[in-house]
Amino acid sequence: MTRCIACGMLMLKASDYSTGDMNMEYCCHCCRSDGTMMTYEERHAGFVDFIMRTQGFDEAGASLMADCLMRELPAWSRRDRQEDGLSDL
Ligand SMILES: [Zn+2]
Repeated sequence: MTRCIACGMLMLKASDYSTGDMNMEYCCHCCRSDGTMMTYEERHAGFVDFIMRTQGFDEAGASLMADCLMRELPAWSRRDRQEDGLSDL
């Protein structure tokens, strides 16, 4: 049992994984049709859409919420660390 690194979903069966391959780190909702992982922007847009539909937030609120949710996920926190490492403080 694994959690998707991009959205946090539990992946229990092969069909939950990208391309049905249980060695994948991300789920079927976080890949494009060719099986590669979505970019931050693509996944963020998906989260905003989902939050607006299910929680009744407007786009600005949903966008903030998606930022917070995604910050907790391994795929994107790794991305932040890489960017932080390159910037001068
Ligand atoms: Zn996912």
